Amino acid sequence: MSYASPHFEPPRPRRRSLVVGLAVLVPGALLGWLVYEGVGGAADGGPSGSAATRAAAGATPPAVPSTAADVKEVGAPLRGKVVVIDPGHNLTNFRHTAEINRKVDIGTNRKECDTTGTSTNSGYAEAKFTLDVAHRLRTLLERQGATVKLTQDGDRPYGPCVDERARIGNGAHADAVVSIHADGAPAGDRGYHVILPGRVHKGIADTRKIVAPSAALGRLVAKDFGRATGTSPSNYIGDGTGLDTRTDLGGLNLSTVPKVFIECGNMRDSKDAALLTSGAWRQKAAQGISEGIVSFLRG
Ligand code: ZN
Repeated sequence: MSYASPHFEPPRPRRRSLVVGLAVLVPGALLGWLVYEGVGGAADGGPSGSAATRAAAGATPPAVPSTAADVKEVGAPLRGKVVVIDPGHNLTNFRHTAEINRKVDIGTNRKECDTTGTSTNSGYAEAKFTLDVAHRLRTLLERQGATVKLTQDGDRPYGPCVDERARIGNGAHADAVVSIHADGAPAGDRGYHVILPGRVHKGIADTRKIVAPSAALGRLVAKDFGRATGTSPSNYIGDGTGLDTRTDLGGLNLSTVPKVFIECGNMRDSKDAALLTSGAWRQKAAQGISEGIVSFLRG
């Protein structure tokens, strides 16, 4: 099996073509305004600042760019927001058994650094699924103006460990973190569920400040995921709500920023597996997660 297949190439953001398009459309007379935009206009995260500000900066704002600026504003609702995507597991964890079995402190107890994850019966690995959805999600969120960071991008031999996965979100001061997974439950168990951090205040874990915002994030992600994918909440966890609260996951226990896991479906059920192995369905999955995050961050 190749671990550098073309499937890992994410679709590139379209932002560059937009910039080029604007550059073609905007003649040289607007150059001064554009220079102003480049030097100082973006500092406040806004599109162009007030007319008075622009005048003080010595630039004359022509009428046309305000339209362009409006487009920029409408098209970048997540400007200034940081989203960390955590693609569950790692494609080559299975080659590093000793390393991933090493116990790490998750506050409530000690737990394996990481796990290999599951796969479909035909051998499509969960780690391959999570990274593919992460790439699609990154593209969608970057189009909305978010700064996006992945905890791993197929660039590590194993892991990161669950405690480090949490620390990456914390260190990035993420406004939202979503850990992407697919489940390995018995056949017949179907549907998605979102895992929320429970209240933990023990050892190095303290989730008290993130329980409420994470629940808000999780509810929105679950709702939008169901709508975008046309699938139902889990029939085996969460009593039909698509939500489950846990206190045994290091990635949640150690987070200090709003964070949820999503189990997108059950890889061991043939009907769910048919969805999870479809690129078109994974795009819908990423779209649903993205919409939930956008709803959460826009408030
Ligand atoms: Zn998993």
